[in-house]
Amino acid sequence: MKKNKDKTIEVKQLGLLNAFNDWRTSRHEKHVSKMQEMGKCPDCYGRGFIPYPASEFAYVSNALDCPGCNGSGLYTDWNELQ
Ligand SMILES: [Zn+2]
Repeated sequence: MKKNKDKTIEVKQLGLLNAFNDWRTSRHEKHVSKMQEMGKCPDCYGRGFIPYPASEFAYVSNALDCPGCNGSGLYTDWNELQ
């Protein structure tokens, strides 16, 4: 009996995780299709670079090239690199 109960909890947790993943995936897909419409790279929002997130690096003027689009900021380049 105990085993069955454990199994139920496991299934419930899995369902919750799947729902969360579905939500994340659909959010990401919406973002990607929006960026596609604008012809922009979804990773860097068409900027072509990823700014340093930490403020201690704010004085560094050259940011990192976006690895998703190779720094072009174009959706077509991002799509090719997928
Ligand atoms: Zn990019």
